[in-house]
Amino acid sequence: MSEVKSFIPIAIPCMGEPEATAAQRVIMSGWVTQGPEVAAFEQEFAAYVGAAHACAVSNCTTALHLALLAVGVKPGDEVITVSHSYIATANSIRYCGATPVFVDIEPQSYNINPLLIADAITARTRAILVVHQMGMPCDLKPILEIAHRHNLPVIEDAACAIGSEVRLNDQWEKIGRAHGDIACFSFHPRKVISTGDGGMLTTNNPEWDQQFRLWRQHGMSVPDTVRHGAKQVIFESYPMLGYNYRMTDIQAAVGREQLKRLPEIVDRRRYLAQRYQADLADLPGLKLPTEPTWAKSNWQSFCVRLPEQSDQLKVMQAMLDAGIATRRGIMCAHREPAYQIETWTCGGKNSPCQCQPGSCDRLLESEQAQDQAILLPLFHQMTESQQDYVVDTLKTACLSPAIA
Ligand SMILES: *Cc1c(COP(=O)(O)O)cnc(C)c1O
Repeated sequence: MSEVKSFIPIAIPCMGEPEATAAQRVIMSGWVTQGPEVAAFEQEFAAYVGAAHACAVSNCTTALHLALLAVGVKPGDEVITVSHSYIATANSIRYCGATPVFVDIEPQSYNINPLLIADAITARTRAILVVHQMGMPCDLKPILEIAHRHNLPVIEDAACAIGSEVRLNDQWEKIGRAHGDIACFSFHPRKVISTGDGGMLTTNNPEWDQQFRLWRQHGMSVPDTVRHGAKQVIFESYPMLGYNYRMTDIQAAVGREQLKRLPEIVDRRRYLAQRYQADLADLPGLKLPTEPTWAKSNWQSFCVRLPEQSDQLKVMQAMLDAGIATRRGIMCAHREPAYQIETWTCGGKNSPCQCQPGSCDRLLESEQAQDQAILLPLFHQMTESQQDYVVDTLKTACLSPAIA
């Protein structure tokens, strides 16, 4: 067994001198928020994913909020989504005063099950908010067909999915290109590239893009950059209720450096993911993530479902005792105290479900994925010997009778 003494975390952002230099450049420049660096980051990001517009904001949660507002989600509306996601997905719906309608996932992809969407649509449905969970693209083709049939906008929670690709229109296309109506990205350190915190909205709709720009800066009619450069005095006005969802230029400058590294980061993650696949294939009962022929994940997380007899907590503790961080499967919002029974529904208009606080018979795949899966460390700087050690430790933990 390989000798790795140091702790192996679940993730480490891949940053260094270029990011530090970029941040310093901005600090010394005298313009530190939503200025030229943000504008350049937006352009470069839009070009990378192949979208007409990209608008930078403070994080992905605020991006999701603005996306839902743009497509017209209002109090009393319903938005179809998954419970099995980071809680920000469902929270963004509630910020609009709307109700999340939770649909179950497919057990292999951990993404929304397209077959269950149609039954969750009611007269109050205003949008479909899908997630590319852990960077694995969800099955957009049938989802978009259902949405078009019902004339519903599709918002993509692509928090984890920068660099992921789907095969549509006979070519490989990046997530963030206009597949749905709006895609939302995160630059939290747990994602594939980071700006500390940060988010991005991409769309092909110029009106929505303009709307995002107003909303993110208090609904102010004149951007700072315009007022600053004006030769004549300009008074701004506030035609609508806005927010402070700005990204700073310090973050954007870091983001531009991260974007340059992205292809190399995604290549490395794909290599390490493939290595996990090969080396864990012989662990009895372990279910490995699968990539459909029409998708290429960026492997933001590598999620395995433990053998049935293995106890999730005990396996995770054994890994931690050996100096390896893991995380349990993706959370389910409907099991959290913040999601009291009256704050969400589980779709299925024809037969009301007997939802209990913390459990729902329509969301069993979601609950099982949370309880049976664990996420393994995967980061750009991870060495092959560190990965071998994770593999060996997981095998020992799963095969040990004390842990089963
Ligand atoms: C991380 C994450 C978010 C929230 O992103 P922030 O930038 O932290 O607001 C939303 N949705 C999903 C699926 C995520 O993984």
